[in-house]
Amino acid sequence: MAERLSDIFGIDVFNEGVMAERLPKKTYAALKKTIENGEELDPQVAEVVANAMKDWAIEKGATHYTHWFQPMTGITAEKHDSFITPAAEGRILMEFSGKELIKGEADASSFPAGGLRATFEARGYTVWDCTSPAFLKEDAAGVTLCIPTAFCSYTGEALDKKTPLLRSMEALSTQAVRVLRLFGNQEVTSVSCSVGAEQEYFLVDKEKYWKREDLIFTGRTLFGAMPPKGQELDDHYFGTIKERIAAFMKELNHELWKLGVLAKTQHNEAAPAQHELAPIFSTANIATDHNQLIMECMKKIAKRHGLECLLHEKPFAGVNGSGKHDNWSMVTNTGKNLLDAGKKPHENTQFLFFLAAMMKAVDEHAELLRMSASNPGNDHRLGANEAPPAIISIFLGEQLDDVLEQLISKGTAASSKQGGKMNIGVHTLPELKKDATDRNRTSPFAFTGNKFEFRMPGSSMSIAGVNTVLNTIVAEALSEMADELEKAEDFDKAVIELITKTVTKHKRIIFNGNGYSAEWREEAAERGLPNLPSMVDAIPYLASEDSIAMFGKHGVYSRTELESRTEIYYESYSKAINIEAKTMIEMAARQYIPAVIQYTKQLADSIVAVKSAVPTANVTVQSDLLVKTSDLLAKAEQALNVLKTKTAEAATKAQGQEQAVYFRKEVFPAMAELRAPIDALEQIVDKAVWPVPTYAELLFEV
Ligand code: ADP
Ligand code: MG
Repeated sequence: MAERLSDIFGIDVFNEGVMAERLPKKTYAALKKTIENGEELDPQVAEVVANAMKDWAIEKGATHYTHWFQPMTGITAEKHDSFITPAAEGRILMEFSGKELIKGEADASSFPAGGLRATFEARGYTVWDCTSPAFLKEDAAGVTLCIPTAFCSYTGEALDKKTPLLRSMEALSTQAVRVLRLFGNQEVTSVSCSVGAEQEYFLVDKEKYWKREDLIFTGRTLFGAMPPKGQELDDHYFGTIKERIAAFMKELNHELWKLGVLAKTQHNEAAPAQHELAPIFSTANIATDHNQLIMECMKKIAKRHGLECLLHEKPFAGVNGSGKHDNWSMVTNTGKNLLDAGKKPHENTQFLFFLAAMMKAVDEHAELLRMSASNPGNDHRLGANEAPPAIISIFLGEQLDDVLEQLISKGTAASSKQGGKMNIGVHTLPELKKDATDRNRTSPFAFTGNKFEFRMPGSSMSIAGVNTVLNTIVAEALSEMADELEKAEDFDKAVIELITKTVTKHKRIIFNGNGYSAEWREEAAERGLPNLPSMVDAIPYLASEDSIAMFGKHGVYSRTELESRTEIYYESYSKAINIEAKTMIEMAARQYIPAVIQYTKQLADSIVAVKSAVPTANVTVQSDLLVKTSDLLAKAEQALNVLKTKTAEAATKAQGQEQAVYFRKEVFPAMAELRAPIDALEQIVDKAVWPVPTYAELLFEV
């Protein structure tokens, strides 16, 4: 029987509806105050909530609960405890106390901490985040009650991605409310950032996946020649969805809807075997949790359909990589979107103020934003001439550009260009109003009418980091601008002057052209915009003195937290490249080279056999091939030896920056040197002896 979407949506979530139904009125009201206004949580309230949560979960079949948290690995962690407590006569009771809901202890020594906590001080605590609802996870382990939590050390330092995000949300709210007060708004008491993260991913056949060690160990292909067809025909983007993929999507949606995730849009992406899912936006914290659930469900459900989901930023060289477009805006608790330009942005001083603050934030902290979107996989997108470039710029579009131009040249703006009507040339088609602005698909930070779309984040990353940085740099810009305005005598005059001054100062960050072009890289350099092609170049900005001062001022990260994160990033880079290099060595030495040797023997045998059968026969094809193959084989062997030496050398470097830089500068290029002859061999060696599935098989035989 077909289920109705409205009947299943959120059924596995302990959401407001369930709470209103199951909690005493007073408890519910108290909890709501904490959730909505950030008021402190009364332990007695927690006790009652825990009990109701447990009853609800057990009725739905749960046997265990877990504090669900997001350590610095960027993925989620959980440790399951059953509800059982021994009772008299060998029986058990099912218990779950307020204390167990609020606080858990997790051995922190096994998670990356970047020197934050000596390993002998292993205490780490998980703390209930009541702003993100608890939910049930159902899998082979049964049903588990998952409680979203923050994760911190014995001394209160954040060991996770959620805590700084929550802190940054508070900082943004404080500064945005302060600005709204200056504009005479007395109603708004909080401002939240809304986030909608579009998730790109690849699906490949499971059997083929398991034949490739590179995919298994590193999430991307380290070898592989381009198939005759890539994405050049643009026939995959928005194309009809194959049955097997559609079945996967159907189950994915079903599962996500049950978890209260607002899965909305699905389509094929630009590359073959690439797809996208976009949920409807929610507050940054919930959007982050939901994005983790989306990634988890994708991986899990793919397997049920004989598929593997690749979340890596660049699973295949030569075709599009995957990102996670982070759509971001600010919304008041009275429901107003502060980045809504409206029809006549030139008259909307408050909007222009927030827009100017965005320009200031992005221009002054471009390096930090770049850093926030960094992981080893994303270097293959950002630094490699692909979407989007490593240079941060903002796209505003024609209408706002014109308004800014007026401000900059005249100190006031008198008009906003309008879109007018669209003429399609067919009378039976309805007449459409034209948007005031076209789209730009190559900008890393694009205004799209009522929000910004940050396109740099990588597909496998948690979105907590980028939103923590975005919230904080915008809070900082707002705070500096508010400092100035608060001193002004004539607000109306001062505010226009401040907006004009700010946009004039930061106009270099605006770029509306093709972000992928070589000309832009030159022009950006002339404008003084930073270009950081690699994660290793970007990491130092995280704990620069400016960054420490800013994050400290807003209470988002302490110096120690930033320094420990810096260590973690260097370490994670080195580890990732080390694993890739070792996987390449393994595959080349034990799969490719032996297969090619076998092939050269076939050729040699053929030459001998043909010659002995007919001494005058022409064997130039075999002998040419044999020469070519042997040359490439020798090149591969040589490159393999270099890679081995460099990887061994890397291990002797001091951990941290020195080692990461060595991996980037020495090991990474050596990997490319090994890949080249193997990929060339793939194109001439007999398919029958090739040891792993090819790009064509992975990308097209799904
Ligand atoms: P497109 O990028 O093609 O314009 P959409 O308009 O559907 O696509 O938006 C993409 C994402 O942006 C979706 O996740 C959507 O929910 C989200 N989004 C829309 N409005 C906002 C907003 N005010 N704040 C944050 N995200 C938003
Ligand atoms: Mg989009």
